[in-house]
Amino acid sequence: MQTVTQLFRLDGRTALVTGGSRGLGEEIAQGLAESGASVYIVARREKWLLPAIESLRAAGAKCAGSVCDVADPAQVKETVRLAAEAFGPVDILVNNAGATWGAPAEEMPLDKWESVIATNLTGTFLFSQECAKGMIARKHGRIINVASIAGMRGSLPRGIHCSGYVAAKAGIIGLTRELACKWAQYGIRVNAIAPGFFPTRMTEGVLPHLIEDLKQNVPMGRPGRDGEMKGVAVFLASDASNYVTGQTLAVDGGSTSVTV
Ligand code: NAP
Repeated sequence: MQTVTQLFRLDGRTALVTGGSRGLGEEIAQGLAESGASVYIVARREKWLLPAIESLRAAGAKCAGSVCDVADPAQVKETVRLAAEAFGPVDILVNNAGATWGAPAEEMPLDKWESVIATNLTGTFLFSQECAKGMIARKHGRIINVASIAGMRGSLPRGIHCSGYVAAKAGIIGLTRELACKWAQYGIRVNAIAPGFFPTRMTEGVLPHLIEDLKQNVPMGRPGRDGEMKGVAVFLASDASNYVTGQTLAVDGGSTSVTV
């Protein structure tokens, strides 16, 4: 039997993290690297991607990356090839790239709806499909989808308007269960993380207005902090969670445990 320290190690593994250029994705990439994985990170814009690669390398990570729009099937295929070329076939896929659009559902422009679904849900599907081909052949794989607690429940009218995001994240939770059920036979585990509020570029416009609300409605009374995401990702990527699949783990200070 492996020791607990051994269970959490990822030495020799290749991890691909979408949206790894900043925020939660960058922290997840850092965590996987700290556990021994080589990390390949992707995002659309070099202006965040290149500094992230440099800073992960400076922290000791084996890290490379390239630009990719997760919603473009050709770019996804090429990215999975490039990651394998850099470090070997992808063992761990983290579908973290995400975006939202804040408009009431009755006014949501169709192109914004489609773009939010494409980045969050279709991107997750495309990368999972492309990576699974090799994982199935090798009978080993770990897929972690970054959903949101927004995909687990609705919000009151005073809440943030994000119908496309909510639909996409709920879709990711369903897709996680379905892929886990279908691919367990190939040694692939598929799980999701559902973050509550964390301070990142995505939330910088809204979080300052929500602090009082979080104090009252989140049992832990605060948003997530730096360092509170990477350990969860390492757990789901590693042998420490070998009998866990199809699950969505809320990392939310207890907010989804509250009943009114
Ligand atoms: P963030 O700082 O805005 O980071 C988003 C990342 O995704 C960036 O690297 C961004 O890079 C990349 N990205 C966006 N669209 C992309 C596309 N089409 N193709 C490739 N990469 C793309 O946001 P974050 O808060 O860290 O979010 C990370 C994940 O956590 C998202 O899935 C988000 O929905 C989820 N989440 C966050 C919170 C929170 O409170 N922060 C809560 C729940 C869930 P480019 O823009 O350069 O492409």
